[in-house]
Amino acid sequence: MCPPVSSSTLSRPISAPRSPRLELENARVNLVGEPRHAIEAFITDLGERPFRARQIMQWIYQRDIRSFDAMTNLSKKLRNTLLSQATIEVPAPIEEKSSADGTSKQLFRFAGRAHAESVLIPDGDRATLCISSQAGCALACSFCQTGRMGAGRNLTRAEIVGQILAAPGVRLSNLVFMGMGEPLLNLDEVLAAIDVITDELGIGMAPRRITVSTAGIAPAIHRLADSGSAVGLAISLNATSDELRDELMPINRRYPIRTLVEAARAYAGGHKSQRAVTFEYVLLAGVNDSIEQAAALGRLLAPLGCKVNLIPHNPIEGNPYAAPSEATMQRFQDEVRRRIKTVTVRWHRGRDVGGACGQLGAAYAE
Ligand code: SF4
Repeated sequence: MCPPVSSSTLSRPISAPRSPRLELENARVNLVGEPRHAIEAFITDLGERPFRARQIMQWIYQRDIRSFDAMTNLSKKLRNTLLSQATIEVPAPIEEKSSADGTSKQLFRFAGRAHAESVLIPDGDRATLCISSQAGCALACSFCQTGRMGAGRNLTRAEIVGQILAAPGVRLSNLVFMGMGEPLLNLDEVLAAIDVITDELGIGMAPRRITVSTAGIAPAIHRLADSGSAVGLAISLNATSDELRDELMPINRRYPIRTLVEAARAYAGGHKSQRAVTFEYVLLAGVNDSIEQAAALGRLLAPLGCKVNLIPHNPIEGNPYAAPSEATMQRFQDEVRRRIKTVTVRWHRGRDVGGACGQLGAAYAE
């Protein structure tokens, strides 16, 4: 008979509502997305040596094996135990859309009818993958399609890492948590996923190739800093006055601009290798694109030594905003550059399939 699995062996979502499927299949644990230390504890509870966990991770992440039966360097007894007590569940997209520019958007349906999307943006023989951390978003930024969906649920670590495994054979240059949801409101699961993504036995990406984007949950930025993580941080700013930011991003009423700048400074400086902080600024014609606002942005952020990424607004049906003209954007960029060295413009990719920044909304046919 198989040894019982300790209920404390694998960490479960704490802040996230538990997945209905996990409730149903409580006896079997999905190993996808579980950090190495958790799988080692699980394996040890089964009466096996910890190095078996490393072998299992190699099968899952480096050889794309999804069946315990195929893990031929494990004993038959262990394989049978794993079959009864664990699973390797990788989500398959229920819909894929390809843009004329090569970008593709994948729609996933997770347990409890939770929908989330990822976007693959090719660049030469590599690609950037933009993944979701929540199904929906409670923060209701006025320029964002996901914000219209309202709060969904937190994705589990398995669902987060699963979005990466669902794109096999793709050589990823960068991974960005800029899909649906606010990653820092699901920090436990995001940190567990990052553990696996950066583990050499997991996805094996360097932390500097990963960016976590936030609408500005200041206490969670400090928590991310304290976690020792070396991933890049992107803060979606979009305004230089609290009055305008309150209007565009209601979360600003709770964590105003001053607290974000302090949190950004703490994040960048609080690590042995300087962590990258980028401020994102979605340009909305006639709202936040004046020369005065560009100058204010430069003055606000110059002391931080951070980067600024300007994003022309991508159209959303029924949304009142529009992108500025290219000439206006150029003037805005030039003005910010007077005080900040690195100011880039993120031109829209995947806009024709609703896969560009701010457009993810999980429109799907049942
Ligand atoms: S921009 Fe990000 S935080 Fe704001 S509503 Fe959209 S998904 Fe949520």
